[in-house]
Amino acid sequence: MLICATCAVERDEPTPEVCPICSDERQYVPEDGQKWLTLDGLAQEGQQTLVKENEPGLIAIQTQPRVGIGQTTQLVATREGSLLWDPVGYVDDNAVEAVLERGPVLAIAASHPHMFGVQVEWSHRLGGVPVLVADADRRWLGRNDPNIEYWSGSQTIAEGLTLHQTGGTSRAARWSTGLQERPAEELY
Ligand SMILES: [Zn+2]
Repeated sequence: MLICATCAVERDEPTPEVCPICSDERQYVPEDGQKWLTLDGLAQEGQQTLVKENEPGLIAIQTQPRVGIGQTTQLVATREGSLLWDPVGYVDDNAVEAVLERGPVLAIAASHPHMFGVQVEWSHRLGGVPVLVADADRRWLGRNDPNIEYWSGSQTIAEGLTLHQTGGTSRAARWSTGLQERPAEELY
C-alpha cells in the first residue's frame, strides 16, 4: 500500500503513474510530479498524530506535520459506539489508543473521495471496522478490502448518528448530542 503525498489517500500497488484523485480537476498533481509515501517511511521521519477533545464526545485527530491536504478526522462518539469521519492519511498507536479509549468504533466514512485517507489501514488497526463508501464513490476507491461496505441515500450508524448523501461527491454525517447537528461542510 502506498499513500499519495498530495491527497494522502491510500492505494493498492502497483499504483497508477499519477494518483487518479489528484489528477481530477478538483485536485492537483504537483509540478514536480507524483510522489508516494509509506506508513513506515512517514514514521521514520517522525510523523505524529495529534488528538484533541473539542467537546465531550467529539475528538479531532490531525497529523503533525500534516500529511497530504492536512484534513482533520472527527471521532464522533455515541453511547452505542463511534464514527471515525474523514480519516487522516496516517495512523499510529497514539491515535488508535485514543480512539479505542472512547469505546468501540462502529464505522469509518469520509465526506469526499479525497478525504478517504488511509481508511482501510485505520479499519485494520481498529480491528476490522466497516469502511462505508458511498456507492457513487466506488470508482475513486484505490484500496480494496473485505471491510468495505457500500451505501447510498442515508445510512444510520447509531441512534442520532446518520450518514447522508448530499449533492455531487459530498457526503454528510449528522449527529445529535443534545441540540447539536452539523453537516460535514463545517468540519474542515
Ligand atoms: Zn492523490
